[in-house]
Amino acid sequence: MTKSNRLRTPRVLIAGGAGFIGSHLCDRYVAAGWEVICVDNFHTGTKDNVRHLVGHPRFELVRHDIVEPYMAEVDLILNFACPASPVHYQHNPIKTMKTSVLGTMNLLGLAHRVGARLLQASTSEVYGDPLQHPQTEAYWGNVNPIGIRSCYDEGKRAAETLCFDYHRQHGVDIRVIRIFNTYGPRMAADDGRVVSNFIVQALRGEDLTIYGDGNQTRSFCYADNLVEGIIQFAATTGETGPINLGNDGEFTVRELAEEVLKQVGGKSKIAYMPLPSDDPKCRRPDLSKTKSVLKGWEPTVPLAQGIARTIAYFRESLAETANKPTF
Ligand code: NAD
Ligand code: UDP
Repeated sequence: MTKSNRLRTPRVLIAGGAGFIGSHLCDRYVAAGWEVICVDNFHTGTKDNVRHLVGHPRFELVRHDIVEPYMAEVDLILNFACPASPVHYQHNPIKTMKTSVLGTMNLLGLAHRVGARLLQASTSEVYGDPLQHPQTEAYWGNVNPIGIRSCYDEGKRAAETLCFDYHRQHGVDIRVIRIFNTYGPRMAADDGRVVSNFIVQALRGEDLTIYGDGNQTRSFCYADNLVEGIIQFAATTGETGPINLGNDGEFTVRELAEEVLKQVGGKSKIAYMPLPSDDPKCRRPDLSKTKSVLKGWEPTVPLAQGIARTIAYFRESLAETANKPTF
């Protein structure tokens, strides 16, 4: 996998490893026998997501901000460090841009120095408010460079550019994935994303806040399916990507709200709120290229099933939070 033929256990650095997706990756790589260095500044992630791994002989948790260089002898780098929900990434947009650009550059520099492969978590946001539907990887996107989502969209686009320039200029072994809306256990209850918002609102008996008329669409992927695709792509040779990763089932935001209401029951209704600016009207991955690269991979968990599992997770985690002593 790397320049040297190491005799030691393979080692992966997971930047953003204490976040929603990153923590599932930590679990999977530890279970597969790797040494895992989880690097996170806990901006949106939490130690709770990886608490069960702390003390494991092949797991190391490091508080570090990837905007600053980090050194470690590793074979694989997974860059998942970046706030992902609009509420979080717009909270400090300059920091979001620094994380995507300077952070990715630092990790690519490390990959170059130690001969590691680097997998970059990019996003369907690189397509912006798409004029092509569904979106293929060949589509260059329709992104506003000066709007409130730009710190994230343009940051991720620049990060992709850096990956390909390090690949062409220095031969760094890169993998770029464009992740479409992913949900599941360990999402933060307060991250403002539509799945977590609707489920938490329904469980609390509050009204579900639909922004706009609810006719905008998204394609929702259950975390386990995404993580499977990531692990497979990280181990693939001879293909840099970018590849789309997600579920190509497409739902309106209103359909999602109705599914959550049906499953949770209770007294919640729908409340319509203003649509934030630059909110994409539709999003669905064309998975043709992905399926030709990842043999046998499929997003297998249907929305209703994934939502049921996510409701069960939030039911438990909200009850735990309510029972925690306050000091
Ligand atoms: P998340 O917010 O749960 O995880 C991000 C993690 O990165 C957090 O643990 C956070 O503390 C950490 N982090 C942020 N800035 C950092 C920095 N400067 N240095 C070190 N750590 C930092 O979000 P997520 O949903 O798990 O997303 C993970 C990655 O996947 C992100 O890069 C995101 O852009 C990408 N992605 C996610 C989705 C999705 O639907 N979940 C979609 C597209 C792309
Ligand atoms: N959304 C909504 N209500 C909410 C949160 C989000 O209607 O409480 C909408 C949002 O405007 C967008 C879609 O749901 O059209 C997905 O939003 P999210 O923040 O989850 O992800 P993104 O917009 O980045 O795809």
